[in-house]
Amino acid sequence: MHDIDCLVIGAGVVGLAAARALALACREVVIAEAAEGIGTQTSARNSEVIHAGIYYPPGSLKARVCVEGRKRLYVYLRERGLPHKACGKLIVATSASQKPALETIMARAQASGVETLRWLDAGEAKAMEPEVRCEIALLSPDTGVVDSHALMLSLLGECEAAGGSLALNTPIAGWRREADGFSVDFGGEDPATYSVKTIVNSAGHGAPRLLRTLDGFPPEHIPKQSFAKGNYFALLGKQPFSHLVYPVPEAAGLGIHATIDMGGRVKFGPDVEWVDDDQDLVVDPQRADKFYAAIRTYWPALSDGALVADYAGIRPKLHGPTEPMPDFRIDGPEVHGVAGLVNLLGIESPGLTSSLAIADLVVERLAAR
Ligand SMILES: Cc1cc2nc3c(=O)[nH]c(=O)nc-3n(C[C@H](O)[C@H](O)[C@H](O)COP(=O)(O)OP(=O)(O)OC[C@H]3O[C@@H](n4cnc5c(N)ncnc54)[C@H](O)[C@@H]3O)c2cc1C
Repeated sequence: MHDIDCLVIGAGVVGLAAARALALACREVVIAEAAEGIGTQTSARNSEVIHAGIYYPPGSLKARVCVEGRKRLYVYLRERGLPHKACGKLIVATSASQKPALETIMARAQASGVETLRWLDAGEAKAMEPEVRCEIALLSPDTGVVDSHALMLSLLGECEAAGGSLALNTPIAGWRREADGFSVDFGGEDPATYSVKTIVNSAGHGAPRLLRTLDGFPPEHIPKQSFAKGNYFALLGKQPFSHLVYPVPEAAGLGIHATIDMGGRVKFGPDVEWVDDDQDLVVDPQRADKFYAAIRTYWPALSDGALVADYAGIRPKLHGPTEPMPDFRIDGPEVHGVAGLVNLLGIESPGLTSSLAIADLVVERLAAR
């Protein structure tokens, strides 16, 4: 007998979704979270966009969990009356040379089963968004926004209702493999060591770091980490758009786009700034120049002084600036050979959208033990 049947490390949106799914699958779940609240890290520092699933290589894990996760998420939010809005988004090409990038997105969307994406010519785009300048655009009606904190509270509530529990201020300080499971050191104010049968390592930026402390874990399955900060600037003044507006994507992000949150606040970002650690969260106001230039390519009327430095999030990258973006990793025993352990690695965007689908795969991988 173990003290804990199933330990989920990390109470971000993905950890909470996994914990809920495991509790509903009749596992006894404990969530250990280092911070003093749930969802204070990457899950609190993103665009809160429900992505349609149109950007990712067809057949990739990202494409599959995004499309499936988006469908599941809308149903979940609707059934519970949680704040969200399927507002749709425009992806705009501001010159003819950007059209091939939109064609690639259209092809990927169709191959991933997203049938709703459609072309808009310049006139149609202007009719929908009079302030936006473009040559041609794609309309993604399945894209939306969600109040991610309301979602996380709901996931936690359902996990607890199914018997799960949450320990805040409880960093996992060490762990060792045992004959059948793990021995885990829980830190914080009341440190203790417990035997644990199965573990979901959903520690976001901390996930690869934790693996480096697990004696005997095959080093070839510990990815190299990089950090790509995404800065946001908020818009002062009137909301200029009724849809989200995205430029064509760049190498490590989706481009400096406009999102409108559930409170009607417009923000632009995230850009891509490679940084050395995951705590570098201050937005440098000097970056505004780049934001004005990027935004004015599709919104020329943006006035001087309308942008104010807002917040930043750090993408948990598994690739460097010159390397191609890899897929999500949900590494279970079938990958690394350690029974009872699932590692969630590189869960950057669209991790929020995909959380319910990722959670199901975690349950499957632990059940296949
Ligand atoms: C700039 C930006 C924009 C994004 N925009 C979107 C978007 O619009 N749509 C979308 O779908 N996705 C988006 N994402 C991705 C999404 O935010 C993430 O995929 C998601 O939040 C990841 O959740 P998580 O639970 O894996 O990680 P986190 O939210 O980082 O949670 C990990 C948790 O583990 C805890 N932890 C770490 N180490 C330990 C330890 N040793 N012991 C105990 N606890 C520990 C941390 O405190 C943290 O609470 C964006 C990401 C970024 C950075």
